[in-house]
Amino acid sequence: MPVDNWDEALRFDREHLWHPYTSMLEPSPVWPVESAEGVRLRLADGRELIDGMASWWCAVHGYNHPALNAAMQAQLAKTPHVMFGGLTHEPAIELGRRLVELTPEPLEKVFLADSGSVSIEVAMKMAIQYWQSRGEPGKHRMLSLRQGYHGDTLGAMSVCDPVTGMHHLFSGVVAEQLFAPAPTCRYDQPWDPADLDAMASMIEQHHEELAAVILEPVVQGAGGMHFYHPEYLRGVRELCDRHGVLLIADEIATGFGRSGRLFACEHAGISPDIMCLGKALTGGTMTLAATLATREIGETISRGGAGCFMHGPTFMGNPLACAAAVASIDLLLANDWQGAVQRLETGLRRGLSPCADLPGVTDVRALGAIGVVQLEQAVDMHDLVPRFVDAGVWVRPFGRMVYLMPPYVISDVDLTALTGAVYRVLAEVQGRQV
Ligand SMILES: *Cc1c(COP(=O)(O)O)cnc(C)c1O
Repeated sequence: MPVDNWDEALRFDREHLWHPYTSMLEPSPVWPVESAEGVRLRLADGRELIDGMASWWCAVHGYNHPALNAAMQAQLAKTPHVMFGGLTHEPAIELGRRLVELTPEPLEKVFLADSGSVSIEVAMKMAIQYWQSRGEPGKHRMLSLRQGYHGDTLGAMSVCDPVTGMHHLFSGVVAEQLFAPAPTCRYDQPWDPADLDAMASMIEQHHEELAAVILEPVVQGAGGMHFYHPEYLRGVRELCDRHGVLLIADEIATGFGRSGRLFACEHAGISPDIMCLGKALTGGTMTLAATLATREIGETISRGGAGCFMHGPTFMGNPLACAAAVASIDLLLANDWQGAVQRLETGLRRGLSPCADLPGVTDVRALGAIGVVQLEQAVDMHDLVPRFVDAGVWVRPFGRMVYLMPPYVISDVDLTALTGAVYRVLAEVQGRQV
């Protein structure tokens, strides 16, 4: 049923559809996407936007990729879904093989979940059940980092930054976890061992009640787009080992090359006990996530009182999503993704660096295929996003951050157009403020 009247359709949307973090009383505008191809979103009115967001870290190969479409169509012709309890299928097995092979060696037990947040819930439950099985039920709390982001379900929320995660709205409902200060030593600064002090003393003080430390390795994403020093991650790994605490790496945003390494843990050469993957896992086509754990965790949980891990979503291991993930991973590895991400890092840094001279800009940084312009004050999205659309690009800032994480396949010409548009719009808006 094609929409023949977009004004009416958008009225319905405003009236009835929740959008992410959007008011139902004064919803911010939305732009209808008619189709998408490569790095271009085609709007219903025929305009085309160069995509700077990769649909929130996901669409690494760009949109409407023939290899991903073909894999999904082939699977669709067989079956889009079948329950995973008591049954299995080729796409799940093939995906499992690749994930076990690609992730750090001790990770070999794969739980296929339906979204990033669910994979975080799964990781937290695994850590808790692990200690229960070892006769240490008191080890059930999580220690995470301020300015972290791990998803929107209640368990995941409990380990997000308590301020930006609005814990006060849900006090008494969201579990009270422990928080270490965010690392301050940046990726490109000399390492300062004092950066680990607070984390070290918290682990020393609380290890008897800690099931796990959970963090985003090297790149804190939605909580502030910080790139911190890999030595910090190495230090946390050592502290966890020394004090008998598991380490959960949330690679949902960073996985599959975004930070310049296939997984951000590789910057530090460490392996977590549990790793969460999502977002780019299916190349931005289908919702799917995975939680990987070590053999020891899988076996210890299974020896415990429950006899198994207590989780099993209805759409676990969805074949269509798994088929897309297999195709996406194969496509990534068949291409020179490292070269592409390196090229993006250079292009983002070069294209965004002039923003550093604009009034109200406090920092410009890039790591892998992530570019960030940080502002002194929170942006007015209602003002900024339409300006970006008028400039022919899709950029959706949040808080004090204007950031880009384009599909890896973006050409140099399009990347220059994208960063140029960011500069021009910010020059207009920031210039006006002084
Ligand atoms: C997006 C994200 C999540 C949550 O994933 P959803 O699929 O949105 O539930 C968790 N952790 C990180 C680091 C993320 O970027």
